[in-house]
Amino acid sequence: MMSVTVLVVEDEPAILELVAVNLELAGYAVLRAASAEEALRQLRETLPDMVLLDWMLPDQSGLALARRLRADDRTRGVPIIFLTARAGEEAKVAALDAGADDYLTKPFSPRELLARIRAVLRRRSPHLDDAPIELDGLKLDPGAHTVAGRGRPLELGPTEFRLLHFLMTHPNRVHSRSQLLDRVWGDDVVVEERTVDVHIRRLRQALEPSGHDALIRTVRGSGYVLRAGGGS
Ligand code: CA
Repeated sequence: MMSVTVLVVEDEPAILELVAVNLELAGYAVLRAASAEEALRQLRETLPDMVLLDWMLPDQSGLALARRLRADDRTRGVPIIFLTARAGEEAKVAALDAGADDYLTKPFSPRELLARIRAVLRRRSPHLDDAPIELDGLKLDPGAHTVAGRGRPLELGPTEFRLLHFLMTHPNRVHSRSQLLDRVWGDDVVVEERTVDVHIRRLRQALEPSGHDALIRTVRGSGYVLRAGGGS
């Protein structure tokens, strides 16, 4: 499985540790921040796959931080789950209005937290999920790390595999090279945009034996799209 990175923003050290340790035990890579400022510093270096955000932070409210993340192109797509001692409908509505994907009231059990994280990732980031996916006779199994075209096994390198998984979980949408770099390579990796073209070319070659290379289309001036389900 691809390692999923979660940024935990929480100023109470005991809760921060409890959450971080449980996430690490479940196989997540964890980044820790005890304030909004620290969170922003972490975010400048690494774009996580999810943010767990405490409502009451010493320097800025979690709500204000969530709005900032939603207003920034780079962080807009990162799912956010609020962790808060505030119960009640009003707080929940405010969190969802600020762009949160879910909301968990303290105290919560680690099991519930992990279940909520999985649910949000399935919904928002299906390319991080291990569920097998099939489109137009092309089948990719992230758990087994195999790809088959009409039953015929296809050989893909690790980057081509991740690229295909992303395109198959987001079909019929045009992705720019920089979007693909962010989502497939991770934006802490410094690579040039033409690297994407190189791997698209390798991916097409790998899909040729079953004719599935035709699914990967170039959209001139925009990027790439996987056309499936009869989309032209
Ligand atoms: Ca707090």
